[in-house]
Formats: sequence, structure tokens, C-alpha cells
Amino acid sequence: MNLILFGPPAAGKGTQAKRLVDSRQMVQLSTGDMLRAAIASGSELGKKVAGVMERGELVTDAIVIELIEARLPEADAAGGAIFDGFPRNVAQAEALDQMLAHRSAKIDLVIRLKVDDEALMQRIAGRFAESGRPDDNPDSFKVRLDAYNTQTAPLLPYYREQKKLVEVDGMGSVDTVAAAIDKALGKPRR
Ligand code: AMP
Repeated sequence: MNLILFGPPAAGKGTQAKRLVDSRQMVQLSTGDMLRAAIASGSELGKKVAGVMERGELVTDAIVIELIEARLPEADAAGGAIFDGFPRNVAQAEALDQMLAHRSAKIDLVIRLKVDDEALMQRIAGRFAESGRPDDNPDSFKVRLDAYNTQTAPLLPYYREQKKLVEVDGMGSVDTVAAAIDKALGKPRR
């Protein structure tokens, strides 16, 4: 099963993806985590993307598509993956469809975590204090939210037309949202 966890920054995608990794032995492919690892390692890629990420802008499609492609064998071995933070625009979604089609696979389900912008701003204020993530400051967060609304949200009709989109209320507690996701996914196969 290939699943996309979809939603604005700070909607809880990463938290829910990690829970599914534990409860369903799924593989999480988070482009944000991969990019942060590149920065932490001091690699050329890390140096290239650090400024863009810190400002809250999207990195180029070619970079994230390559990162995802390199990890698809892992997804094959696990029987699918949870895509977290990818795709972020229509070009990335089309590239993902093509990469999966080459492996005789496809996106099965897109779970959208619905949250409101006000609540996100409050959530992020708390997270900035705790995480110190350089892009969790009010200015960068606003850029990230704008990028979501202008570039990523237009993907919703793309998946809705394919009848893959399920919407889940992302405003509840972690456990409540987790229960709603479990309901959308059905019983684990193992
Ligand atoms: P995230 O952890 O998913 O919120 O991503 C953090 C940052 O990494 C984003 O604000 C972007 O700068 C970059 N990033 C992560 N995933 C993507 C993607 N699919 N396309 C472009 N930029 C991305």
C-alpha cells in the first residue's frame, strides 16, 4: 500500500507517519527529513538547500524527486510507503506516479489532515520554542503556509478526481487523529 499523508506544515503528518511505521511496519519517506539529514551531514546537497529551507521556500523538484527515487527500493521491499511532505506540487505528483508505474505500483490512498490556519500558527509557536527548527519561526512559517496554499493544495483536485482522497479532521489530539486515520486505512494486514 502506498499512502500519501497530505496537509499543511505542522498539521501532524510526521507524527502520524511515525505512528504508522510502528503500528503497521510501514516505511516513511519524508523529503523534509531527508533534506534535514543532508544539511546535518554537511553534504553539497545540504549546503545547496539550507538557505531555501530556512526561508520556508520549496526546494527544486529535481532534488526531491531524486531523493525519493533513491529510496523507492526500500518501499518495494516493504510493500509500499508513506509519503510525508512529498509530493508538494503537480509536477512532483506526476513524477511520483511515473516512478511508481515503472515499478508496477501506484498511490492507493491520500489522507488529508484538515486543520485551520489559525490553529497552525498557534501550534507552530509552541513547536518553535521546543524544536528550534530554523524554519519554525513566524516569518518562515508564513512562507511555508503560502507555499502550501498556492502550490500544494492545488493537488487536492488531482487526487480527488482519481477517487483517492480521504479527508480526516486534523484538529483533535494525536490519538483522535490516529484513530480516524486507522479507520480510513482499515485493519492492518499483519
Ligand atoms: P517538511 O519537513 O516536510 O515541512 O519540509 C521542510 C522543508 O523542506 C520545506 O519547507 C521545503 O523547504 C523542503 N521540502 C520538503 N519536502 C519538499 C518537497 N517535496 N518539495 C520541495 N521542498 C520540500
